[in-house]
Parts: sequence; structure tokens; C-alpha cells
Amino acid sequence: MPPKKQKSSSPDYPSLGKSIVKASGNDAACKLKAGLYIVATPIGHLGDITLRGLATLANADAIACEDTRTSGVLLAAFGIKKPTFSYHDHNADAKRPEILDRIAAGEAIALISDAGMPVIADPGFKLVRDCRDMGYAVTVIPGANAALVAMAGSGLPTDQFYFAGFLPPKSAARQKEIGALRHTAATLIFYEAPQRLAACLADMVEMMGADRPAVVARELTKLFEETRRGTLGELAAHYAANEVKGEIVILIGRGAQKEIVLDIDALLAERLQHTTLRDAVAEVAEMSGRKKTEVYSRALMLAPKRK
Ligand code: SAM
Repeated sequence: MPPKKQKSSSPDYPSLGKSIVKASGNDAACKLKAGLYIVATPIGHLGDITLRGLATLANADAIACEDTRTSGVLLAAFGIKKPTFSYHDHNADAKRPEILDRIAAGEAIALISDAGMPVIADPGFKLVRDCRDMGYAVTVIPGANAALVAMAGSGLPTDQFYFAGFLPPKSAARQKEIGALRHTAATLIFYEAPQRLAACLADMVEMMGADRPAVVARELTKLFEETRRGTLGELAAHYAANEVKGEIVILIGRGAQKEIVLDIDALLAERLQHTTLRDAVAEVAEMSGRKKTEVYSRALMLAPKRK
């Protein structure tokens, strides 16, 4: 007796996708108008491509890929046979006019990146800008994005967030950028490479303190997905001792608002022109939250300067 075929515990996404591709190819409603189509692709799990994403790729006249080999694997998995060409940071300026000409001639050009939402920390913004400027249709087919997937699963506040992309690779420049973000009243999101993770977390501790809540989200939607939470200090210590591979998002909980330092002397000088010393001291103490005695001694030093 031949062995019984084991039932897979998860759906066969490529087969499902292939039937969507086949069906949409025969569906007049899926035919695309001229324009640029920005299609999100998975950040790992093949099942995360959308139905609309598949139909769009299957019906585009051509697909601009960040890397044609990487995207070739994805397209083959879903049986999509469309001409592809590369559009990346190094050839974008030369390729853009060609793409704009093709759209002007009536073609539907899809843009995809190696993973996730094209244009976000990926090539494409100038192409979108030029299409918009020239009045060509731009359609975004949404889907996976590593920053948002990481944030949604992080347990950090999501009401306000700041996407900072990749930090500079050198420590001095990186510390400068981290320092500038220290007081941002929002969850901070960074993309980082695995070989720089430990050094980057060490710089974050240095510039923001060890106590800030933080998360490292790694290999999201993939087999070895991991979301590690802790303080910045704990995470820095963990990743200094444990080398990791894969793709990484770092998130940091919001910082305390920068203390607003009021210029007591300037306030006093201004109030002393309009009111008595006693009232000026009371008003400035109230405004600044400083002790009356402290404001009073400053006022005495300023008072002789009054005419
Ligand atoms: N456009 C993509 C998006 O929508 O997320 C981002 C492209 S950016 C060039 C690639 C970076 O995204 C990686 O270095 C990593 O920081 C992050 N990233 C992509 N896929 C990821 C995943 N599955 N898990 C964690 N981070 C990921």
C-alpha cells in the first residue's frame, strides 16, 4: 500500500493564488487602465499577497521589480507570466522616462519591491511623483508592510508613531540621529540589518537611556518569527550575547516630553515693566512652576537694573 498522503495543516496558497491568476486573466473586469500600479507583496509568508495584488500583476503589461530574480520566484510561485524589468536605486533615473513613456502610450505598469509595500524604504517615490505631476493614474494595491506588522504585534502604543527607516551604519552619525529623536512623543520604528543590531541597540541605550520600553521584531510572518520585548538595556544585553540572522524591526516606546525650560530672567524683566516686584514674582513663579523664593532672589538681582 502506498503511504497515505499527509493533509497539510495550512492552505496551499500558491495553488489558490494560481487559480485567482487564471480566473482574473479571463475576466474582462480585471483588465487594467493605463497607469502605474503599486502592488504590495509578502514580507515573508506567501499567503499574504492579496487577491487584488495577484489580479493586478496577472493583468499588467509589464512589472517593474526592485530585483527581477527575487520577484521572479514570487511570480513563478503564482504562475504569473508577465514581462519584468528592473527598477532600483541605481537605474531609476535612467528607467523613469521609459516607464512614463509606456504609461503615456496606454500601458499598465506594475511596481513591486523585494518585499512589502513598494516605495516605503524602497524605490519608487520619484516615479509616483512624476506620474502624479503628469496626470497619469496611480493605483496602490495595499498589503504587508514590516513596520506596521511589527508595531501591531509589539504591545507598544500605536496612537502616534514615527517611522525613522534605516539609521546610518556608523556609530557617530547613528548616535546623532537617535539623539535628535529622543524626545519624540511617539513610538519610534526603525529598520535594521542583523549584523548591526547589537551596536545599534547599544547606541540607543547610550542616547535614550536603558529604561525605555522597546521591541525587536524579527523574521515577521516567517518560520522563525520572533518578537522580543523588554527595556532597551535588556534587549541590548540580549543581542550583544546572541547573534541573530534575518530581517529586523526595532521599536521604542515614546519618550518623556522635553522639559520646557522657561527663561525666568526674561519673564521677570518683562513683568517688572508692568507690575510691582511682588506681583511679578508671584506671576513668574506660577508660570514657571519654580519656587517663589528662587524667583524672588532672581528678581532682586534684576530689580536694580530697572529705571
Ligand atoms: N518596503 C518594505 C516594507 O514595506 O516593509 C521594506 C523594505 S526595506 C528595504 C527592508 C527592511 O524591512 C529590512 O531590512 C527589515 O528591516 C524590514 N523587514 C522586511 N521584511 C521583514 C520581516 N519579515 N521581518 C522583519 N523585518 C522586515
